[in-house]
Amino acid sequence: MQLETQHTTRAERIAYLADALRGLYQGEPTAASTAGGRTAALARLQEFDVQRYADTRNHTTRRGVSALSPYIRHGVLTLAEIRDYVITRFGTGPSVAKYVNELAWRHFWQLVYAELGEKVHQEIEPPKFRRKGTGKRRFLPEDILTANTGLVCIDESLRELYREGYMHNHARMWFAAYLQHWRGEDWRDGAELFYQHLLDGDPASNSLSWQWVGSTFSHKPYYFNRQNVEKFSGGDYCRACPLATGGCPFDATYDDLARELFGVSQDELNGERGRQPRDRRR
Ligand SMILES: Cc1cc2nc3c(=O)[nH]c(=O)nc-3n(C[C@H](O)[C@H](O)[C@H](O)COP(=O)(O)OP(=O)(O)OC[C@H]3O[C@@H](n4cnc5c(N)ncnc54)[C@H](O)[C@@H]3O)c2cc1C
Repeated sequence: MQLETQHTTRAERIAYLADALRGLYQGEPTAASTAGGRTAALARLQEFDVQRYADTRNHTTRRGVSALSPYIRHGVLTLAEIRDYVITRFGTGPSVAKYVNELAWRHFWQLVYAELGEKVHQEIEPPKFRRKGTGKRRFLPEDILTANTGLVCIDESLRELYREGYMHNHARMWFAAYLQHWRGEDWRDGAELFYQHLLDGDPASNSLSWQWVGSTFSHKPYYFNRQNVEKFSGGDYCRACPLATGGCPFDATYDDLARELFGVSQDELNGERGRQPRDRRR
């Protein structure tokens, strides 16, 4: 994008930029978009009912998450004040504990970043299982950039990312797994895409989460199947998906997918017999 010389006044330049930026997104921001500032952040915190969190946080359509991440990322709210607020208001039951646990994960990624610095953008450990793809970085495929893979669970998640600058945690996990394990793309290209669009885009949380999915910062790769998508989207995505009746790449058992994607059985992938891949990240 170039600032043309004919836009001489500040107002003209702003109008030009607004116009140019509008074309980068697929739609206008909706009422659910994140408003800036401390007042909006506190209002969102006060609206948030943490008592539903443990049961609903993984559900991508029936959401029980706080959507506070942009405010946390940019220092508008601190982790400590959020923790104190939810404990004072709701007590210390299991749902509050789960929520505080997630705040702690953010803190942990920050501590790793403080220790490793820019090395978080390189592979921290070798991947634990065979990977598809060349391992070479390149431009992401057009269907990813335009949210047109034909898979509704992926495309809807990408559209929200491009439109709102947000993607639900479970959808981030699905997409990060899809891009790396099914499409064989380099995780750094996916991390860069997220970082460009997420309002909460954070070097530590982003790169380390991508590495957690890819097994370069965890003991095994994260992957999922159609049953997981059905369960955590209430069937909404699959009902709307043209590939639901044939051609869905996620429609298989975990064992079959482990063999297809990583060349090992599910037990070998888990490193112990009989343990199921966890539906939830933690
Ligand atoms: C591939 C991938 C990339 C990610 N990139 C980012 C990123 O760039 N920036 C970012 O802030 N988070 C990132 N996350 C973590 C998580 O998805 C977001 O923090 C969460 O979705 C934000 O939504 P929320 O505020 O509604 O979360 P809530 O569930 O309401 O959680 C409250 C807060 O806890 C923290 N938190 C929640 N889940 C996680 C998690 N899994 N890891 C670390 N902290 C967590 C966040 O600060 C979040 O705002 C990423 C996760 C994945 C799988």
